[in-house]
Amino acid sequence: VLILAIESSCDETAASVVKNGREVLSNIISSQIELHKLYGGVVPEIASRKHIEKINQVIEEALKEADVTLDDLDAVGVTYGPGLVGALLVGVAEAKAISYARKLPLVGVHHIEGHISANYIENKDLEPPFVCLVVSGGHTHLVVVNDYGKYEIIGRTRDDAAGEAFDKVARAIGLGYPGGPKIDRLSREGDPEAIHFPKARIEGSPYDFSFSGLKSAVLNYLNGCRMKGEEVCRADVAASFQKAVTDVLVEHAIKAVKEYGYDKLAIAGGVASNSTLRTAMERACRNNKIKFYHPSPILCTDNAAMIGAAAYYEYIRGTRHGLDLNAVPNLKLGERI
Ligand code: ATP
Ligand code: MG
Ligand code: FE
Repeated sequence: VLILAIESSCDETAASVVKNGREVLSNIISSQIELHKLYGGVVPEIASRKHIEKINQVIEEALKEADVTLDDLDAVGVTYGPGLVGALLVGVAEAKAISYARKLPLVGVHHIEGHISANYIENKDLEPPFVCLVVSGGHTHLVVVNDYGKYEIIGRTRDDAAGEAFDKVARAIGLGYPGGPKIDRLSREGDPEAIHFPKARIEGSPYDFSFSGLKSAVLNYLNGCRMKGEEVCRADVAASFQKAVTDVLVEHAIKAVKEYGYDKLAIAGGVASNSTLRTAMERACRNNKIKFYHPSPILCTDNAAMIGAAAYYEYIRGTRHGLDLNAVPNLKLGERI
């Protein structure tokens, strides 16, 4: 089964051709980061306009690199939520046009199901059930993947997402957007034990997260230094903040795998490419005899190959969308519209 997948939920215009859900024949990503950097974050209207400019070219490249034509395809998969409505609409309209013109089945995909499914691509042995920690720019979820397309959210953030916390702290120490990769890099020169930042735990909800208190603690620390006229070691702040985030992510994820009785843990989303998180999770899994899965960094951040993987499992389950498919900016995980 050959699927053309399209992703345009935020600031990456992406298209990919995926065979049988796990074999990526092409994975084209046109990132708008340079453009949004000027504004310190994603500007929705600019994102939509850029998607329109790029999408045809990105799809053409994906087909060319995969060495296939539209005639070879079995279906078109597309992210229809969650995300920025104007951005999503570009991909959805494009997928509907191709589906209509070529009489191809249309399969709408949940963006976070895509992030989770990125794990299937390089880990041919990974099959549900397993636990997945989703840590992206807008989501922080602990998910039990009971089967393909069957998800149970057992923990979530009460405030900021992990990636959002990285981006906000990066801005506060003057690293610019997007902050995650920059904090990751700067942390290598810093001491993670230099500053003690709080690790929020939520009474009675062992799998939930909270990162806004940590963000405030970093801001207070920076203000304190400023008042006292002390020089801030940005690398120490980055490393200490990163440790506070990753410690909690690892602790909650391992606890979930053990208490729910699974033996496999996957991570997904942009923050899953964080080197400290990967190393810490790897070690914790080894100590607890848990098999650890993670996508390559390029498949952690937004891409269409992961949408192709998710679309395949939806396709074989019989999911078909009509030409009335719409963008759903707040689509819930596991919800079928
Ligand atoms: P969502 O998937 O929740 O809709 P999104 O698509 O914007 O949000 P992703 O593309 O999955 O998010 O990930 C982007 C986020 O990942 C950003 O917040 C970015 O700072 C963060 N990120 C990327 N690389 C790293 C890294 N190496 N370390 C930490 N964070 C990172
Ligand atoms: Mg992005
Ligand atoms: Fe994403």
